[in-house]
Amino acid sequence: MLVNLQEVLAEGRKRGVAVPAINTPNLESIIAAINEAERQNIPLILSHAELHESVLSIEVIGPIMLMFAKKAKVPVCVHFDHGESYESCVKAIKLGFTGVMIDASAQPYEENIKITKKVVEYAHKHNVSVEAELGSLPNRESGGVVTGDPRLLYTDPKLVPDFVKRTGCDALAIAFGTAHGIYKAKPVLSIDVIENIRKVSDIYLVMHGGSGLSKDDYQNVVKAGIDKINYYTYMSYDGYAAAKALIEKEPTGFFHDVCTVATAAQQNKLKEMFELFKR
Ligand SMILES: [Zn+2]
Repeated sequence: MLVNLQEVLAEGRKRGVAVPAINTPNLESIIAAINEAERQNIPLILSHAELHESVLSIEVIGPIMLMFAKKAKVPVCVHFDHGESYESCVKAIKLGFTGVMIDASAQPYEENIKITKKVVEYAHKHNVSVEAELGSLPNRESGGVVTGDPRLLYTDPKLVPDFVKRTGCDALAIAFGTAHGIYKAKPVLSIDVIENIRKVSDIYLVMHGGSGLSKDDYQNVVKAGIDKINYYTYMSYDGYAAAKALIEKEPTGFFHDVCTVATAAQQNKLKEMFELFKR
């Protein structure tokens, strides 16, 4: 069933689970995510990152994500991840996406509010919910090395009520020690950032960049109040590893067999991860 971001996150709170938001730049990842969410009976978000446009464009993959969401047995939001401009968010909404993220976190505070508010005004007219970002994560989805003191970039809990009120956003991505892609050093999380935000706001909170986190880290952030967890890198790595193992074993064969083992390996990873997202 296709629902918007606000609805899928409300469902997650009701069922006691941080809703997984899985980047799905191909059919294999869509099938793996839908199958596992249905198997565990939890709500799901299928995400298209603007960064993955070069893999498959939103015009091609968007309608396929929507088709799977509509016929799913669990509530599914089709979400535009890390929208870099008002225009790209509008494009996703016109294609039928039910959630968009506007990431203006690299802008100064007042500019972030201005851009986010503009996206919210358009999105809410179309029953689409908006995720914004406050504070900033090292690296984009592509990964890279973390340099400098990342604590300087953490979300300031004191700013959250003002930001939410002035932008009207439905969910907020916050920075408290995670990074995108592959983490070179072991991440150290400041769970107190989540707890301090929870004391002043009931906005849905989003964690990006779970790479390198332990099982305990996941459980700690979920228990502290994270409502949505973006997940991709290690699932995709497992798909790649399964494809590689098959090719090494059988040097010639059908390409669709590579897709089949990669889908199964990705679902297997999600099986393990989704359990950690439950409170
Ligand atoms: Zn992200």
